[in-house]
Amino acid sequence: MENYPADQQAFEQLVSSEESCRSFLASIRWPDGFYCPACGNSKGWHIVTDRWECRECGRQTSVTAGTLFQDTRYPLQVWFQAIWYVAGQKYGASALGLQRLLGLGSYQTAWAWLHRLRRAMVCPGREQLSGTVQVDETFWGSEHTGKRGRGAEGKTLVLVGIERRGSQLGRVRLMRIPDAAGDTLIPAIAAMIAPGSVIETDGWPGYRGLSMNGYVHQVLKSEATDDLLPQVHLVASLLKRWLLGTHQGGVQASHLEYYLDEFTFRFNRRTSRSRGLLFRRILENAVQISPIRGKDLRA
Ligand SMILES: [Zn+2]
Repeated sequence: MENYPADQQAFEQLVSSEESCRSFLASIRWPDGFYCPACGNSKGWHIVTDRWECRECGRQTSVTAGTLFQDTRYPLQVWFQAIWYVAGQKYGASALGLQRLLGLGSYQTAWAWLHRLRRAMVCPGREQLSGTVQVDETFWGSEHTGKRGRGAEGKTLVLVGIERRGSQLGRVRLMRIPDAAGDTLIPAIAAMIAPGSVIETDGWPGYRGLSMNGYVHQVLKSEATDDLLPQVHLVASLLKRWLLGTHQGGVQASHLEYYLDEFTFRFNRRTSRSRGLLFRRILENAVQISPIRGKDLRA
């Protein structure tokens, strides 16, 4: 088998048995063969269906332990179908669609699954943006675009960073921020963008500290009515359209991060035509993140 299912037929073959799903997940979690999470020893046996045993310390491990799939009551076959569905939805997945596909009893269950999978769209050790990056803030959840500065005033702010390669767009990062003060913006940018990068912003004072923090800061000056930051504004408008269109505006501010993760995943893979590769990427992240309990989803 290839390292990801190439088409629908290959996918159906993969999910035809729980055993084959388990082996596939094991190949992603332990690409160089089993190693023991307790002692790090790399000698072990696959003993029974869902158990590997370490030859050194005797500890038994399942392939799902310590991953997003730990303690799930559902077979991996069902999870794989959910991920395949999500990977195939170009414009975003809906809880209702997932509920229908899997025949889940409740909408709430489908909603919780989708939020877990959105978490798995973020690569835990992902690289920072680099090169030339345009940065700006955008509002969500409010019609008025009032003044910037401290204090949320009922608005949710999202920091947008987009790599600019000439007039082409590179990768995007989105981060919810409480306000647009320098004390907020500089650490947020430091988490998002590699030191030494060129950062383009408008003249907002909150960005003034950038050049003292390891960046080449270019403040774009307004000339007439030209859009100063066309790339970052394009991303902001695509994000808003996606939130309003795909989710009919039904996105609560408290859950915004999940949707930002999904948008980022889809945007950064917008040229990828391979559903199987997206499916594999989500699984690669899922084996690296901890289980998410239902109560932790309801912020
Ligand atoms: Zn061990």
